Amino acid sequence: MDSDCIFCKIVRGEVPSTKVYEDGDVVAFMDIGPVVKGHTLVIPKLHYDPLMNVPEDLLQKLILVVQKIAMAQVSGLKADGVNVTQANGELAGQVVPHVHFHVIPRYKGDKHSWSCKADKYDTIEEMGGYASRINAAMREL
Ligand code: AMP
Ligand code: ZN
Repeated sequence: MDSDCIFCKIVRGEVPSTKVYEDGDVVAFMDIGPVVKGHTLVIPKLHYDPLMNVPEDLLQKLILVVQKIAMAQVSGLKADGVNVTQANGELAGQVVPHVHFHVIPRYKGDKHSWSCKADKYDTIEEMGGYASRINAAMREL
């Protein structure tokens, strides 16, 4: 637990939240600044950050709750689609440094839009080089 962390405070009940799910390891609650209404955050009760530091068994529990929330947004909120996003590091847009998944219901005509603009590789070999470096690093993990 991190005494200054806003999400740890939510877990401890020191900051109010609107919870949609809770078990021994995981909490899901409404994002106070919803990108689209129904936007839900899924976090571990223990303070881990970033994603790369989350133990495997806990990550499995988190992603299963993410899946259930997504399913419930489709069946319960009649979402036409769902975005699952997750940021690591300020540079990546992370504001709260306690690992969390955003689960965002999407609707035809909703006001949310991704501003991602696709870059491109100069050559197929350049792309292969990135793939090789990731693959080599994965074998060292
Ligand atoms: P990120 O930019 O990925 O770190 O996302 C942090 C998210 O936490 C934002 O979408 C905020 O709206 C949300 N947030 C921050 N404080 C609270 C809070 N007290 N209760 C609910 N959501 C929060
Ligand atoms: Zn925390």
